[in-house]
Parts: sequence; C-alpha cells; structure tokens
Amino acid sequence: MNNLLDTPIEYLKNVGPNRGALLRKELGIHTYGDLVNLYPNRYIDRTRYYKVNELRDNPAEVQLIGKIIHLKTVEAKRGKRLVATFTDETGTMELVWFQGHKWVRESLQLGVPVVVFGKASSFNGMFNMPHPEIELLKDHEQNLRSALQPVYPSTETLTSKGISNRVVNKMMQQLFLETQAMFAETFPAWLMDELKLIPKNAALFNIHFPKSADLLAKAQFRLKFEELFFIQLQLITKNLIRKHKIKGHPFTKVGDHFNNFFNHRLPFALTDAQKRVVKEIRNDMGSPAQMNRLLQGDVGSGKTIVALMSMLIALDNGFQSCLMAPTEILANQHFNGLSELAEGLGINIKILTGSTKTAERKIIHEELENGTLHILIGTHALLEDKVQFHNLGLAVIDEQHRFGVEQRSKLWKKNDIPPHVLVMTATPIPRTLAMSLYGDLDISVIDELPPGRKPIQTVHRFDNNRLKVWKFLKDEIAKGRQVYIVYPLIEESSKMDFKDLMDGYESISRDFPLPQYSVSIVHGKMKPAEKEAEMQRFAQGKTNIMVATTVIEVGVNVPNASVMIIESAERFGLSQLHQLRGRVGRGAEQSYCILMTGHKLSSDTKTRLETMVRTNDGFEIAEVDLKLRGPGDLMGTQQSGVLNLQIADIVRDKDILQLARQYALKILKDDAPMQKPEHAVLRSTFIALSKKKNLWNYIS
Ligand code: ADP
Ligand code: MG
Repeated sequence: MNNLLDTPIEYLKNVGPNRGALLRKELGIHTYGDLVNLYPNRYIDRTRYYKVNELRDNPAEVQLIGKIIHLKTVEAKRGKRLVATFTDETGTMELVWFQGHKWVRESLQLGVPVVVFGKASSFNGMFNMPHPEIELLKDHEQNLRSALQPVYPSTETLTSKGISNRVVNKMMQQLFLETQAMFAETFPAWLMDELKLIPKNAALFNIHFPKSADLLAKAQFRLKFEELFFIQLQLITKNLIRKHKIKGHPFTKVGDHFNNFFNHRLPFALTDAQKRVVKEIRNDMGSPAQMNRLLQGDVGSGKTIVALMSMLIALDNGFQSCLMAPTEILANQHFNGLSELAEGLGINIKILTGSTKTAERKIIHEELENGTLHILIGTHALLEDKVQFHNLGLAVIDEQHRFGVEQRSKLWKKNDIPPHVLVMTATPIPRTLAMSLYGDLDISVIDELPPGRKPIQTVHRFDNNRLKVWKFLKDEIAKGRQVYIVYPLIEESSKMDFKDLMDGYESISRDFPLPQYSVSIVHGKMKPAEKEAEMQRFAQGKTNIMVATTVIEVGVNVPNASVMIIESAERFGLSQLHQLRGRVGRGAEQSYCILMTGHKLSSDTKTRLETMVRTNDGFEIAEVDLKLRGPGDLMGTQQSGVLNLQIADIVRDKDILQLARQYALKILKDDAPMQKPEHAVLRSTFIALSKKKNLWNYIS
C-alpha cells in the first residue's frame, strides 16, 4: 500500500503531466500520498439554499435555485465579459464569466430551473457571482450529495487553470477508487481503544467525504491528534538524545554554600513554586547530562533567588557561574540584587560590562582564570574571547529572546564540557506554544507570586481626561510615591515618536514644575552612562517622575515607584503592556497602571485594553495575545514550523496537543526506542516520518 501512495500524482486518472506540474508547484503535491493529506480548509453546507434577497457580502460560497432569463456580452476596457441575469421569486442577480464564453453560451439553457453555486458579492446595488457552478435542478436532485462539501486549499493560478474545488474533489474520489481506501494504520489498537480514535481509513475517508457531522468531528480529532502526537514524539526523542549525548558536569553535592544560605540566610520563605523549581534544577544538574532549562516566571515572581541558589550548587561542586543580562542597567541590578542576597557567604561576585574600567577588567580576567572569582555577572561583554573561565559550570541567561542561539553557544565553547544552561524569561509563553516550540527543552514555571503583593490596579483613560489623571499623580507624589510615564518609541529611529516623547516631556515639566517636582527622562538616544545616571537619580528618589520610552521595559526595579502611565497605549502589544506594568507593584504600596488612549480604537485594541484591566496574570495575557495575533507574530514561531501544521492549530487545539504530549511522554518514558511489540507501528511510522523533510522542519 505504501508503494501505491508514493505513485507520482500525474499517474492519477485525469491528472497527467500538465496538471501534475501545477499541483507540485502550487500545493507541493508530488504523490498520491500528498494528495490524500491535502485536507479541506472548511466545509460548506450544500443542503442549504439561499434566496437572492438573503445574499450578504461575505466570502462564503452559497447556492441558489432559480432561472436564467437573459444573456448578453458586455464590452469593457479590460475585455469582454458574458453576463447572465438570474432570478428567483425574491430578486435578481448577475452571473459573470470572463473566459470560456463560447462554452457557456452553448451549455446554458434559458428559462429552466437551475442551481447556481459560487461566491456572491455586491456591486452597484446588485449581487453578482463570477464563474458559478451551474447544474440543472433535475440533475441536482438526482445526485446524492453530502451535507458537508469540502473546500480545499487553492491558489489563484490553480483556479484560473481550471483546477477548481470540484476538480480537486473529483481527483480525490478517483484516488480513493484506485487505492481502495486502504491506508496503513499508524496507531496500535490499544491506543485507538484507549482514546476512542477511529481507524486511519475511516478518518481519511470522512475528512474528504464526511458522512455526517459526527464522523467528520471524529476524523478531525484523530488526524489532529496524530499530527501533534508524532511531532511530540520527535521533540521528546530529540531531548532524550541530547541528554544522552551531551555530557554535563554532574553536580552531585549539595554543600555548605547552598545549605548555609537555605537554612540561615533566606530573606523570606520561598513560595511553593520557587521550591519546586529549585528542586527541578537541582535534579537536572545532578545528572551527568547538560541541563538546558527554560525558567518562566512572570515579572516579580522571584526568579533572581532561584538563579542564586542554582549558582550556589555550582559553587558547592567547585564550579564558577555567570549571569548574562541584555542591558547594562539590568546587569547592574542583578549584580546589586545578588550581592545583597549573598552577603556574608564569602562569595566573590563581580560585574563585567562595556563600561568596566581597564584596571578592574584585568583583575576580573585574572580571578576568572585562577578560579577565585565565583560568580560573574555581565552583559554580552561576557562573550568576548578574552573572558576565560577557570571552570564554568552554570550559565544563567536573563531574558532569553534578546540573545541569539549562536551567542548563547559561544558561552559554552569556552569549555570542553558545556556548562548547564538556565534561561530565564519574564515573557510568559502560553503552555501550548511552549510545548510546540520548546518541547525539546525542559521548562520550569514559577506560577505563583510571593505572598502579600497587592495586585496592581489597572484602568483605561481617554486623553481628554488627562487633567484628572494629573491630579491623581500629584496626590500620589504628595504621598511620597514615584511615577513612570512611558511613550511609544517603537522604532528607535522614528522622528515622530521622538518628537512626541520630547513634547510630552516638556508639557509634563510645565505641569509638574520645579522646585516642587523634578522630572527625569531616559530614552534610547542617550549614552549608556547618561541613561544610567538618570536611572540612578530616579532610583534614589531624587526625581518624582520618570519619562521614558520602552528602554525601561525590562527588569528595572524601583520599589517606590507605584504608578505607571502608558501613553498611546493603543500602540503597544499586549505582552509589552504587561512588561511595562510590571515595573510597578514592587513595593508594599498599592500600585496603579493607567492606560491612556485616544477615542478611536480597533476591536483588537479594545480587547487588549480590557484584558489588561481585567487581569494581572501574565500567562492569561499571553493566551489572549496568542489568540489575537496568532502564533505567527510570536517570538520563535517563524523558525519552528508550528505554522506548517496540516490540520491541527496550536491555539484552537491546545487540549489535543496536551493529550498528544502526555501520551508521547508516557510511551517514551516506558520504552524510549519504541521496541516493544505494542509500539511497533508507532516506531515504523516515526521512522518513515523522520525521513521526510517536512517533519524535520518542526524540530531543527
Ligand atoms: P523577577 O522574577 O521579576 O526577576 P525578582 O527575583 O526580582 O523577580 O523578585 C521580585 C521581588 O520579590 C524582589 O524584591 C524579591 O526580593 C522579592 N521576592 C522574591 N521571592 C520572594 C518570596 N518568596 N517572598 C517574598 N518576596 C520575594
Ligand atoms: Mg528579574
């Protein structure tokens, strides 16, 4: 059977070399097997008949019963068109042909009942239907038709060359005829029983020729599950192979540094989520394979202390650690935060950035090489060739998406055995997406905020309410609080945005005048040292208001700042809004986020604003973002191939994805090379699929 499915598509009856070439070029269909896997995008209900007066402008195909009463040729600049007048008891519309006039004229009969089928759109108050399918009503009634007619993916070239949906449908019928619908089963009986999956044959048949809505649903479920399941098998296998092949330093000891810190110096009780994650990391680093772990946790969830405890384990095993941050401001904050936490532990921590002085740099290089420097924090300056570790055991990377994979691997080219890698991100990735994107990484999630935090109150205000907002700011400042006001500067080069920022700064300086108030400003055009100095002034409470662009998006920590104003909030994406909001709510006081917009808002924008007002939960926000934007715009999806899925959709089918992953994990845990007899079918399908290029797209 498999051989038959490898038959080149041109051998299918009525296809031939010309159509074969078109199918290859337009839809990537080379073989019978490719055609079977061309799944319909949707189905149309052909039991429903519309009346002319029920037509609406929308892209769906419709069918109507009526008569053609008139036929004429219309000359126009762009060529002739043939126009037929179609009527039913409720009204009139036009059928239009741009090509094939002779054939249409010969085959049309005036005044007899017909069924027309196509897309109708209105023009000058009249509906018209270009290139409809037409059938005599009496023939139509004799044909058995299923309620659900598939609509296949197509391209303009295909339709213009005569490969209409009906033709594809015919080819599919022919294919099922020639192959007798004997498609090899890819699942073992036990799995189909357990999940009540219909057989492969039945699934393929019903996806193309649904016998009922119920069978169609079962067919879709089976094929979606199958697609996602085999991808998960691949991802998890890849992870297992990596663990098997890439050696790491086994950190078997939990020693004095860790224990001393954990037992005597914790500044607060860890949340359950933090404890769980530390345990996951400990287990991982304790094994002889390299750890490659993504640590997700919303802003303020307490990732820093987890990073420190992981570094202490490295230290207890005699290894150095480093922490790399995307900006100098962040690196400094990490340095201050970690130094404070680690005070009195007798650990040597230093920071290396672009602005580290030569003399200090020299000391760092020396101490790194002789092993007396335990933890090095820094920016991408850590990647310079001159930076040589004595023995790097753990690399922590903050804000993963700012560093490319290549940059990251530079870190571990510095050793024979690579360090364990912990990537921390505050941009929550929806579970479903994480599973498909990073299914081969291990993921830890801190899904709980430290206790006692007051949820940030978020409101949406229109620009013409600015006076009230300013009044509110003055009240908060009078209580000793500080305020961020953020302007969009989406592209650093945009002159308009920069002007808006400067105008904003001027008017704020006027409305909040010296000496009572003082206003800071930070933006991307400033030198790092200037930025840093201005940030410090704000952090030390010397200024009340920080006017900024999104440069403050990441990581900045000023606990006394309790109000975040986001100007032109309609221009920010959801995850960016959430990141910005995360700058406040870090202290004991009630914090606020005010989203300022104009009155003209698209419905997506309204959804974004409502979501921000409704919830502080980064994962919930990420889910909404994924729904609004689709996976295409989210980080990392482009390369990953989650967009190339044939039938499943990671947003809509997340429950099926979860189930598929669960089963793939269970099977591989029990029998990783899938050698047991009950896994034989899975193994052979897996191998066959792995040989096909398209599946590797998902995972390389
Ligand atoms: P992020 O995950 O955004 O990096 P941080 O590690 O900076 O978060 O932690 C945010 C704040 O919460 C810090 O001030 C930190 O000291 C505090 N914190 C972290 N964990 C806890 C905890 N378990 N209990 C109380 N406060 C905590
Ligand atoms: Mg942080």
